Amino acid sequence: MTGSHGAPSPAFLGYLLCLVAQLQTVPTADLTAFHDQIQLRYDAFRARGLALDLTRGKPSAEQLDLSNGLLDLPGQGDVLAADKTDVRNYGGLQGLPELRALLAPLFGATPAQVIIGDNSSLALMHDAVAYSLLKGTVGSARPWSRESVVKFLCPVPGYDRHFAICQEYGIEMIPVPLGADGPDMDLVERLVAEDAAIKGMWCVPKYSNPSGAVYADAVVDRLAAMPTAAPDFRIFWDNAYAVHHLTDERIEIPSLIEACARHGHADRAFVFGSTSKVTLAGAGVSLFAGSADNVKWYLARMGKRTIGSDKINQLRHVRFLRDADGLLALMDRHRAIVAPKFTAVAEAFATHLGGTGVASWLVPKGGYFISLDVLDGCAREFVRAAKEAGVELTPAGATHPLGQDPDDRTVRIAPTFPDLATVQVAAEGVALSVLLVTSRALLAQRGAGVPARA
Ligand code: PMP
Repeated sequence: MTGSHGAPSPAFLGYLLCLVAQLQTVPTADLTAFHDQIQLRYDAFRARGLALDLTRGKPSAEQLDLSNGLLDLPGQGDVLAADKTDVRNYGGLQGLPELRALLAPLFGATPAQVIIGDNSSLALMHDAVAYSLLKGTVGSARPWSRESVVKFLCPVPGYDRHFAICQEYGIEMIPVPLGADGPDMDLVERLVAEDAAIKGMWCVPKYSNPSGAVYADAVVDRLAAMPTAAPDFRIFWDNAYAVHHLTDERIEIPSLIEACARHGHADRAFVFGSTSKVTLAGAGVSLFAGSADNVKWYLARMGKRTIGSDKINQLRHVRFLRDADGLLALMDRHRAIVAPKFTAVAEAFATHLGGTGVASWLVPKGGYFISLDVLDGCAREFVRAAKEAGVELTPAGATHPLGQDPDDRTVRIAPTFPDLATVQVAAEGVALSVLLVTSRALLAQRGAGVPARA
């Protein structure tokens, strides 16, 4: 019943798990035996001296290779856009019309509602927050920074870089729980209706970072319709994974811009996206989209900071992607590389953690992450144990404002960057670390603690 390194085999562990079922409810003697077996297997894993990294949602080199064609474009002597604009020169603040036409429908916008930026949508989000603080936005009585306090709603688990922008500028963050089909809307509606200091809300509406949640149609509608105490409330709609499907089902969500217009809140939507995980993560194109007034407002601010974005990059993206179908075909090739890695993680979790009651996760249908919830109070210790075993994870707490997960429960798993074989091994290390830490915690709760190993 032992595998390599004298550790129990996966089959034996599966058998043991069947026996113990929900770890919370098994007799202490069985739980101790289970813990001891896991400890052996964890020690064997650690003894391999691996250095595996599941920390950040980066595309792999194999994925980046799919867009190597960009590196030869547009090519010397081929530098005129459709309207004969010389892309090497200044100007064209809003971005090439042909690229706006290509990307707009994927983000629920019309070409006129889109502004193309440089290589980072995060930069556009940062700037939209900074402009709103310094100048106010359409409908603001005064710049947000002149209010005594500014607050944003932050669905959790969420994206640490959104939270970092708020932290940087002293914006108070209010966590709201995010379920599989969107944030707790009863809570959101209540908070924005009663507190005029709430000026914004972060949303990753499709295949969210990190849980993979997809906002339901009804959630999008309620967000667009809800009355808000702040007349200049904005939804920062970061649709970073709009086309990043992992299954045959290409899930679509309603256009927030259209929904807001329909409900008489045309200026509520600030939409963001990019091709960072479509073409080249460091050299894609980004977009901002919104109502006509929002576009005017953004261009007025943007025009002070730049004479125009990189149109050579815009042109080569049009030539490389050709049209929306070309972009979706490229995403299918990404999926062929990425989906097996997600399957490997899901299988490892199902094999080792399924039915134990000490961990839960959503198998995402798209995006770049899996978020793993472990027994309350165990996330930090689990990440530490995984690191000791040679698997580095995003720090526990990163999924929450100020890095503080009050339940110490959620950990983000990012399986895209390493190769498949590495992901398979790493996922096993993750699962063993969860089982070790949670079984130890349960034993401690019962006053039957086991001595921690060095
Ligand atoms: N938003 C989300 C939700 C992300 O996960 C990421 C990348 N990890 C970004 C934005 C960054 O996008 P960009 O490269 O366009 O700045």
